[in-house]
Amino acid sequence: MEVWLGFLGENTMKKENYHLHTTISDGKLKPEELIKFCIKKNFSTICITDHYFFPKGFRDWGNDFYSEKDYNELKILKEKYKDKIKVLIGVEFDWLTGYENWLINESKKRTYDYKLISVHFLQINSEHCPIDYSRELFEEMIEKIGSAKSLVKKYYQNLKNAIKTNCFNIVAHLDLIKIWNKNEIFFSEKEDWYIQEIEEVLNLIKKYNMKIDVNLKLLNEFNKEQCPSLWIIKKAKKIGIELLVGTDGHKKNEIDYDIKIMKKLSLTSG
Ligand SMILES: [Zn+2]
Ligand SMILES: [Zn+2]
Repeated sequence: MEVWLGFLGENTMKKENYHLHTTISDGKLKPEELIKFCIKKNFSTICITDHYFFPKGFRDWGNDFYSEKDYNELKILKEKYKDKIKVLIGVEFDWLTGYENWLINESKKRTYDYKLISVHFLQINSEHCPIDYSRELFEEMIEKIGSAKSLVKKYYQNLKNAIKTNCFNIVAHLDLIKIWNKNEIFFSEKEDWYIQEIEEVLNLIKKYNMKIDVNLKLLNEFNKEQCPSLWIIKKAKKIGIELLVGTDGHKKNEIDYDIKIMKKLSLTSG
């Protein structure tokens, strides 16, 4: 990704955000409010990546996300603001065990600039449990499945299955499974089995020509570290995978970020 305009100095580095939510799903700002706010904050490119609606019967929340009307509104806004900001139309799909065919079908129904794929839910004993809901629930999941290692492996197995469908462009918050793993209390990222899981995922991302979402949201939350970890970012860069920064912003104070972070995360090309 070209983010340096080196000859003009650091202050003119291009600011981009490829992971944003609006009222189309669970965000607080309307799409047009978000676009106007991003113009004010000097973003050159943004991608609106609202959650796609969930399959009927899966849960009673989110069934009205991202309607056809919403999708058409984004197309109009993209055009309306094109002289001020590049607005890309994205979507965030959830990988759900048992609903694979539904998801593959739905992912092909519209054209998007970017289709993100996320694993937020893991199926344990026929129940879909959200990874990022609470530490208590996370511990319960570990207990049910037997060990943290089994849970982590299940997470990456889901992610690998999703990548192999070849339906998506960006892997969102690649190592979200570390969300409650502050100080490595559940597992160590330095263990061989974990490094191997990551390498398998990165190789698949490369094979299917996908990109990685460098998700800054956790920086402000429990774990205080972006997704993925820096060592994974470096490995991904080394094998030529493109990385796109996003804040996973759902409200005003989650949209802007300090451009210096790009340097810290080795995301500048200069
Ligand atoms: Zn997500
Ligand atoms: Zn998101």
